[in-house]
Amino acid sequence: MIPIQPQDSASGAQAAVQRDIQHYMRPGTLQLGSLPPLSLYVHLPWCIRKCPYCDFNSHEHGRDGPELPEDRYIDALVADLESALPLIWGRTVHSIFIGGGTPSLFAPQSIDRLLAAIRARLRMEADGEITMEANPGTFETDRFRAFRAAGVTRLSIGVQSFDDRLLQTVGRVHDGAQARAAVREAADSFETFNIDLMYALPGQTELDLARDLDVAMSFAPPHLSVYHLTIEPNTYFAKFPPAIPEDDLAYDMLDRITARTAAAGMQRYEISAYAREGHQCWHNRNYWQFGDYLGIGAGAHSKLSFAHRIVRQVRFRDPARYMDQALAGAPLAQDGEVRRADLPFEYMLNALRLREGFALQDFMERTGLPLSSIAKGLDAAQAKGLITRDLGRVVPTERGFDFLSDLQELFLAE
Ligand code: SF4
Repeated sequence: MIPIQPQDSASGAQAAVQRDIQHYMRPGTLQLGSLPPLSLYVHLPWCIRKCPYCDFNSHEHGRDGPELPEDRYIDALVADLESALPLIWGRTVHSIFIGGGTPSLFAPQSIDRLLAAIRARLRMEADGEITMEANPGTFETDRFRAFRAAGVTRLSIGVQSFDDRLLQTVGRVHDGAQARAAVREAADSFETFNIDLMYALPGQTELDLARDLDVAMSFAPPHLSVYHLTIEPNTYFAKFPPAIPEDDLAYDMLDRITARTAAAGMQRYEISAYAREGHQCWHNRNYWQFGDYLGIGAGAHSKLSFAHRIVRQVRFRDPARYMDQALAGAPLAQDGEVRRADLPFEYMLNALRLREGFALQDFMERTGLPLSSIAKGLDAAQAKGLITRDLGRVVPTERGFDFLSDLQELFLAE
């Protein structure tokens, strides 16, 4: 993608946006007969403390520091959205995801103002899903109800574990009692919610995991997202790596999670996501089905389709810089077209995460490419027992799910 020079003035930025629109509309090598569903992602980038494993765009803002610049940040989000409107003109937004960071650090009134500003500018599907991420220890009683009243329909709670010792080893600011209280309150205030859990934590045993699952299941969660702790570059854990469970133990843990959730009537519909019927996350499914999303906020990513091209954008990452740029009408740090040769891999990175796989017709509609572009990869994947397929559909096998990155790599550009 091409880095963009910061704009000096709003009028300069407007001119750049205008140029971009014409640029995106011109003829190209792809043929997209229709545009996919569109979602909106909103990034709120602050957390009380940076977790040692976290490589998200989150910035520490201690409990005792100055007030969060909530009003200015929301003004910046609204300006950001306005500058992007020409790229999504006339399209309906099917879901909104307010992620972070820790969005629940923002006051309910700020979330209310944000959602009202979005609704005033975008056509939103009447029963569209609006998810917000929340962390235990960042709210008081009634705060979740106020988020619900502001229009949030689904809460995703970053619990990670209910065990005080394990929470400490991964540097979380909350304890097990706060995690339980947060889930209880979410269950009282929302018809649907998600619990984020992590496994393969430093010093975690299978028994520890079984206890965490017991507590999680005692709330009958409609949705559970389960992540293996990974050591990412540029994190505290990358510099000072903790001793984490060996691969074999981690595989056993994953088997336990899958068995325990299945016994509770949840389906593993995506590599890391488990849901009861009717509670799959629409927003995330749209990512996995290679739908479109506009991302606003510091460091947010977008993927937008046009008749002859697919475009990715990234906003400025640093919150202060982002606010200045967005308020001047120029929030983009990078903007570029996805190369035709990269589209098969990009599609598979998403679609093969789904248990149900994908329809061949959807591949053609979403990428604008012919099936011949993935024929070789599909043959190789089938020969290795990583997928099954018929004339209409490709589905990852159990083995394909276990070796997902090997499967996806078969579609890398040569
Ligand atoms: S709470 Fe989440 S976003 Fe914030 S630092 Fe921890 S892992 Fe990162």
